[in-house]
Amino acid sequence: MLPLGNLLRRSSRSEALLRRLLGRGLASSAPSLPPFDHQPRAYKGMLAEEVLQKRKKFLGPSLFYYYQKPLNIVEGKMQYLYDETGKRYLDGFAGIVTVSCGHCHPDVVNAVLEQTKLLQHTTTIYLHHAIVEFAEALASKMPGNLKVVYFVNSGTEANELAMLLARLYTGNLGMIALRNAYHGGSAGTIGLTALHTWKYPIPQGEIHHVMNPDPYRGVFGTDAAGYAREIQDHINYGTSGNVAGFIAETFQGVGGAVELAPGYLKLVYDIVRKSGGVCIADEVQSGFGRTGSHYWGFETQGVVPDIVTMAKGIGNGLPLGAVVTTPEIANVLSQKIQFNTFGGNPVCSAGGLAVLNVLDKEKRQEHCANVGSHLIERLRNLQQKHDIIGDVRGRGLMLGVELVTDRKEKTPAKAETAVLFEKLKDLGVLLGKGGLHGNVFRIKPPMCFTKEDADFLVDALDYAISGI
Ligand code: PMP
Repeated sequence: MLPLGNLLRRSSRSEALLRRLLGRGLASSAPSLPPFDHQPRAYKGMLAEEVLQKRKKFLGPSLFYYYQKPLNIVEGKMQYLYDETGKRYLDGFAGIVTVSCGHCHPDVVNAVLEQTKLLQHTTTIYLHHAIVEFAEALASKMPGNLKVVYFVNSGTEANELAMLLARLYTGNLGMIALRNAYHGGSAGTIGLTALHTWKYPIPQGEIHHVMNPDPYRGVFGTDAAGYAREIQDHINYGTSGNVAGFIAETFQGVGGAVELAPGYLKLVYDIVRKSGGVCIADEVQSGFGRTGSHYWGFETQGVVPDIVTMAKGIGNGLPLGAVVTTPEIANVLSQKIQFNTFGGNPVCSAGGLAVLNVLDKEKRQEHCANVGSHLIERLRNLQQKHDIIGDVRGRGLMLGVELVTDRKEKTPAKAETAVLFEKLKDLGVLLGKGGLHGNVFRIKPPMCFTKEDADFLVDALDYAISGI
């Protein structure tokens, strides 16, 4: 039988609808990618096997790859990626939640190119308009008195700087982070990260990992007050009574798209501030409208942090990170020289400003809300059909699908997840994997991802699960 996509190659609205309806009923026929008007360039470069051999020889062995036969991805256009053979994939993971506007979005490419032709780099020892334009635009997106920006090059660096600010500002050392958190892999931030799979046995600094307010697996379920009491206890018994700060992702990314129990941050921010600490929101994954309902993840909990860290989506792929804080906290770094060679360089600043503009112009936050609610509804319907889907969670285009072999025991379906992951790739869907046991599909595509893409993704998941 011909794949449906071949029969319906040229899309009209009704054809797309027909495909969707048929796809829903017919999990027995492999779904096809929605049509897309882009011809990838013929690729004449090094092929996967050779790249892999050279990677093994010349790059550090800590590098890991997805899929038994790793993909050689050579081109990207908006929400799609192309491998060396020209095969197209729906990118459900956006370069690990980084490609916000879309692969090679023309506005971002153009901003980077134009700035590159004129001036690439000088550092902040000279003046340049791009860094202040970008900082002003970013500050305008922040609530309260969060108006001062430090630019860095990655999420790890942003969290290092935030931790330094917290410690210097409060005069305390102890940091509180959540179990299941990921905040970086550098010597300092590895202490904040709380997934043993990412941690090396080196001194972790004075860091306290408290119970994760995970509505699905946490002992208090969605009861934020239970987890908040546990933090207070931890401060009372496990610290001097004073802390430097508390850091959390509102939507844990690497930990498997876990949205913190509602109301948690409000209770905890109060406790932490009473203990002399500052509150840091790690928005490396959840910022820039991805959650649909709000521009920043922390806003979903009705709090205003003292320090916000960001990276990934801020640059659509450019090496760019930022720390935004109040003038008062920012000031603690004026006592000594604090410098970052590439932070806020003209090229990244021009690109970052273009990202902010694209997200506004294309109303991506609203789009994430619309497409995300459609996708989550379809995933929840699929959960009714397949017992292996233990939990569907998240908001906007920041979703997680947790697979279990036993719904009551919530036993991680590790092996099944790995099999489905490969099958989805063969069907043309690239997702992320997360959680301590690697049994959560992370669906965090470029924010230009459409309802048709969402339908294709769910149909492919249905098809793959039905086959195991
Ligand atoms: N914070 C969070 C929430 C992250 O997901 C990551 C990266 N996965 C980081 C910090 C570290 O960012 P980077 O890899 O850019 O250093």
